Amino acid sequence: MKLGALEAGGTKMVCAVGNENGQIFERVSIPTETPEKTLPAIRDFFLGKGIEALGIGCFGPVDLHKDSPTYGYITTTPKLAWKNCNIVGYLKDALQVPVGFDTDVNGSMLGEATWGCARGLDTAIYITIGTGVGVGVLAGGRLLHGMLHPEAGHLLLTPHPEDHYKGKCPYHGTCLEGMASGPAIEDRWGKKAYELTDHTKVWEFESYYIAQALTAYILTLSPEKIILGGGVMHQEYLMPMIREQVKNLLNGYVDTPQMRDLENYIVLPSLNDNQGIMGALKLALEAIPV
Ligand code: ADP
Ligand code: ZN
Repeated sequence: MKLGALEAGGTKMVCAVGNENGQIFERVSIPTETPEKTLPAIRDFFLGKGIEALGIGCFGPVDLHKDSPTYGYITTTPKLAWKNCNIVGYLKDALQVPVGFDTDVNGSMLGEATWGCARGLDTAIYITIGTGVGVGVLAGGRLLHGMLHPEAGHLLLTPHPEDHYKGKCPYHGTCLEGMASGPAIEDRWGKKAYELTDHTKVWEFESYYIAQALTAYILTLSPEKIILGGGVMHQEYLMPMIREQVKNLLNGYVDTPQMRDLENYIVLPSLNDNQGIMGALKLALEAIPV
């Protein structure tokens, strides 16, 4: 079976053709410009490929409520050209196949739950720390949507006592995304995040904020696994610092086998950075009526 997968991001659109086993046969990356320019380019990639369904993991916020008049739209995004864009409607009409749709981070969570390190789990979270911060949630073995969809990247935090940065989020200033996203690091320190490798304060603050958020997610959702992806996590010493700070913040209160084995509890993605596109394949598969 041939399935289409689209990982729709604010900087690039990754389009792939694969199958129901998560195998990818072909992929391209198209820069995200305006919908008028980018959507036809996506359509042209998939046309004639014989896909039976398309799955989309999309940057947001998005409308995931099937009974809503704006289902399948990108809604209040700060990427203004894409505000109120009917991405699902356009691709469904253009390709004439069923379309599965979810957030980008739920897509990555689904990829890891289907083929990766969260396979068989009841509850898990996938967090991306990149241009923005997003959180996908698996609960009861299914992706969690609720009222909108989780927006836990905007969790409000207590600033580090030595950090006087006002925060990058236009809505909340010092929320997790406002303090710990790649652009927040660059704005605070005046250099690209990957050029700050030797500055210990940068990573002390970074791990402090991520650990604060993880502590809140552990206490509220009780995940069995926490997966941390995104460009910023390429700084490899960050992971041990985050684990250490989570341990300090929880202070022994949550006493489970996972807490005694943080190396296998708070982990990097396991699918070679294919978790998003593989998750989109699974969204496509789930969109096919049974
Ligand atoms: P996106 O969020 O746009 O999908 P990424 O997850 O790659 O893409 O995130 C991009 C952000 O991650 C940029 O702000 C960049 O500065 C940061 N980043 C990318 N690579 C690294 C690295 N090696 N170390 C630290 N930060 C990085
Ligand atoms: Zn925010």
